[in-house]
Amino acid sequence: MSPLDPRLDVLRGTPRQLPHNARTLSALTANPSCDRRVLLDASGIDKDALAAHLGAPPPLRESQLALDAGIAFERSVTAQGGAELVRLLRQTLGFTLPEVGYDDLNSVATDDNTSPQQLRHAHTRQLVLNAAQGKSGDHTLLDHPVLSLTVAGHLVHLEPDAVAFQHHGVFYVVEIKSFPVIDGQADETQVGWALVQAAAYVLALREVLAGAGLPPDRVSDTVVLINPLNFSRVPTATLCNARKKIKSLRRHLDRLRRIPELLDKFPTGTSLDLLLDHTGQPTRPRTELEAALTTLLPHYTPGCREHCDLALYCRQEARTQGRVEVLGSDPNPQVVIGGQPVDLCAGRRRGSGACGQDDVPAGASGGRLSRAGAGGSGPVGRAGQTAGRCR
Ligand code: SF4
Repeated sequence: MSPLDPRLDVLRGTPRQLPHNARTLSALTANPSCDRRVLLDASGIDKDALAAHLGAPPPLRESQLALDAGIAFERSVTAQGGAELVRLLRQTLGFTLPEVGYDDLNSVATDDNTSPQQLRHAHTRQLVLNAAQGKSGDHTLLDHPVLSLTVAGHLVHLEPDAVAFQHHGVFYVVEIKSFPVIDGQADETQVGWALVQAAAYVLALREVLAGAGLPPDRVSDTVVLINPLNFSRVPTATLCNARKKIKSLRRHLDRLRRIPELLDKFPTGTSLDLLLDHTGQPTRPRTELEAALTTLLPHYTPGCREHCDLALYCRQEARTQGRVEVLGSDPNPQVVIGGQPVDLCAGRRRGSGACGQDDVPAGASGGRLSRAGAGGSGPVGRAGQTAGRCR
């Protein structure tokens, strides 16, 4: 238990703690300046439930159909002892058949099924170290291992889709994703997200090796991305260099040591407890909750809608306060109101501090607001790559 835990527990209150995962870690790299998100995630607060109680609709999410299709694709790749996965890894990494061994960590459990994650983590660690020290013979492929990463003094469990290592003693992280590679190209935002998640696994694997006194650089910066090819369900593998993402994630995780400072900014006893009743319904007055949330400094950007459940609440808050961050990181956003381009930042340049109605041309105030040509700030920015360019 970290010394920060009691303070974070007070902030979360009675609801159960949601652990960090590779998605929440990768979201930190998308908006590292948001103190609000850092503290909400560190204390394991359910942002979805918080947003719902504050009356903010959830941002658009992947449909259940898409989620099911993703699970089905992953299963098709890892079925039958990872037969398809082994074929792809032989093509991309040059495995020979005698070098391939397969362990499914999903099957690890106790009779009473208590703490399966800790047990799977212990098994994963042992298998990785055995492999790294040459004790496990041919075991080279771990399916659904559980790794851990220290985040702001907390041990966070992560579950990569698979981890492979080959005979030269180099470990590779494999990410299986259901977005397609069409004609050698994949959606660059999705590739960026996949690489940031893989970066979390690379760091976690390096912690395992470093903890046993082995060189962490035996875990490769190169990640194997597996996606459906074109419009089929046939998987294809691509080698991607994730070095920048790994460095970036490491830098952002190191910044999380600021949590004690952020906690110090609170009035003692500040809590975002939803005060759930016996049916699990929040009973906390919204105004009280909003007042507590205000003490956590947000940094809203349009990219928040890609990765944060509180996005629509924070956007409304930023709009109400007239903050220009709602326009994104484009230094010269083209905003059109009523069919006419408008300089929304003129008020700010004149020193009034916020975008004002006086910047809107006469006759345009009732018009529809739309952005034209503004790039926004996607979660990976320019660093995203297409799978086709990963090689
Ligand atoms: S939506 Fe709000 S809490 Fe989430 S990252 Fe953006 S500003 Fe921070």
